[in-house]
Amino acid sequence: MLEVLNPATEEVVEKLEPATEEDADAAVARAKKAFPKWRDVEPADRARLLRRLADALDAERENLARLESKNTGKPIGDSRGEMEMVAETFHYYAGMPERLLGESIPVSGGVDVTFREPLGVVGLIVPWNFPLTIASWKMAPALAAGNTLVLKPAGLTPLTAVAFERIAREAGIPGGVVNVVVGPGSKVGQRLVESPDVAKVAFTGSTEVGRRIAEGAAGTIKRVTLELGGKSANVVFADADLEKAASEAPAAVFGNAGQDCCARSRILVERSVFDDFLSLMQPAVESFRVGDPFDEATDMGPLISAEHKETVSSYVPQDAPVAIRGSTPEGSGFWYPPTVLAPLSNEDRAAREEIFGPVVAVIPFDDEEDAIRQANDTIYGLSGSIWTENGARAMRVARRMETGVISVNSNTSVRVATPFGGMKQSGVGRELGPHALDYYTEVKNVYISTEEG
Ligand code: NDP
Repeated sequence: MLEVLNPATEEVVEKLEPATEEDADAAVARAKKAFPKWRDVEPADRARLLRRLADALDAERENLARLESKNTGKPIGDSRGEMEMVAETFHYYAGMPERLLGESIPVSGGVDVTFREPLGVVGLIVPWNFPLTIASWKMAPALAAGNTLVLKPAGLTPLTAVAFERIAREAGIPGGVVNVVVGPGSKVGQRLVESPDVAKVAFTGSTEVGRRIAEGAAGTIKRVTLELGGKSANVVFADADLEKAASEAPAAVFGNAGQDCCARSRILVERSVFDDFLSLMQPAVESFRVGDPFDEATDMGPLISAEHKETVSSYVPQDAPVAIRGSTPEGSGFWYPPTVLAPLSNEDRAAREEIFGPVVAVIPFDDEEDAIRQANDTIYGLSGSIWTENGARAMRVARRMETGVISVNSNTSVRVATPFGGMKQSGVGRELGPHALDYYTEVKNVYISTEEG
């Protein structure tokens, strides 16, 4: 039996029979059978069905948010925001079936047109940090483009995925179009990756498993999109609004208990304002409230598991330069305090590896060139921020940062209508915005001769 825990209380909240490889094959077979019918649903009808699903998700937002908080330990306010995004993502892609435009290309001797064809069955493998949100970024464009899907949630957090399958069915999505299998990644996930009947795998998770998925997909030349780890830099220049940058920096790394691929887990601060920045940041760290996910005032919940807590702790040894530390509740739950390590060098382990916990490395830099060099000195390239009042510098640095997304005077990374994804070992492909549809369709070219006889 798969025991699903509440990480804030360590209580078992659900027991599920884990799926086997045979169950994964059966789900793929159902999706394969449903594909031709779903592909051929008129675009306006597919749009209508997706709108209905979006409305149903809207109606169930509070239930889903409570379920997500119970299973992940994230603050209820965060879960509400996430469920809003889930519904919004479906609303956005419901507008797409009628906008999957092709082209006509001038050629001699005939007419040439392109079509955007769905891929077939897509396998979606998602992690535990934003369970239904990340799944929705994959499911909504996949369905809008006419694919059918098999979703494998993380074993730690399957509850909202199971609820989603029911909501989709009740909203009128035909049987076999949406299939959820809850089982171990190494078996069920791997089966999706290797199945000749799965046309594409979209994965979010660790770089290590991402690499394994890319290798496994090679056997059938499967399309793969990967959203992997990050070690994003929050770059603060001396000419920034320091108070704003410092007061917002904690939420940018301690939000979701740091279990966020976009976490600004390195703060690069210009040397001349380094101490001032830390002093300004201190009250924001100390007042970051860690506690009961269902208390509306909570900013941060527990880590996802005991094992993960051990991993995070290993980045803060006895002799670590802890400059600021928050507090945690007593008693059961996988708690870890917000922790600021400063000053650190970009060579230190805590500055190089993705910790995926509420631990941030604060690192000094000398000038613009040094800031760019250190920000880019990582295997990752997902997100980041630049804080400066100099507009020309903001654009200069933004263009040279090796990241898929970057914000100026803001720590946001994702919006439903804009592309999200990584450079370097942070991944392959883009999610959200119109760009996601490129990864759930193939371009087909059709040439028709107009020559006589
Ligand atoms: P994983 O990458 O192991 O898990 C992500 C998903 O992949 C889960 O659904 C998992 O299933 C599945 N999976 C695991 N192994 C395979 C496989 N061989 N084939 C197919 N699917 C597989 O992440 P973890 O949960 O173990 O987290 C470890 C670290 O990864 C974190 O500490 C963090 O650094 C990073 N991470 C990054 C995320 C991001 O958003 N970029 C998200 C989550 C983690 P199952 O749950 O059943 O094992």
